[in-house]
Amino acid sequence: MFGFGLDIGDLIDIGLQVARSVEAHDEMAAAQARAQASRNEAERMKHQAVAETKALENRKLAEKIAAESVGVDCQGCGAKLAIRKGSISFCAYCGSAIRVTEEGKASVLSPEARKAVIDRARAEHNKNNQ
Ligand SMILES: [Zn+2]
Repeated sequence: MFGFGLDIGDLIDIGLQVARSVEAHDEMAAAQARAQASRNEAERMKHQAVAETKALENRKLAEKIAAESVGVDCQGCGAKLAIRKGSISFCAYCGSAIRVTEEGKASVLSPEARKAVIDRARAEHNKNNQ
């Protein structure tokens, strides 16, 4: 009756097929979107885990340094310093060289001893940069 060999039943069938195909396409797109979302989530969780591990390592390192450090009042200027046991450190305010023993006892180095520490560090630096 439409002159193309199609009757109303065929048109309904074609309409249903188109609808099913659109539906299938939508489902596939939705499934792909879900897969992408779960990949994104997995990636996000991985980054978070890495960041948390780094934060934990930094905290452990900070705790280790804190546990190995002692609070020292700079005898040159009175500034409060935290210096690692068994090391020599320079006051950030007045430049005094302060030695802290493994037992946590602090003492200011004499100017000569301070210069010797700096000369040694300088020689070490130059050796490493040759
Ligand atoms: Zn000082």
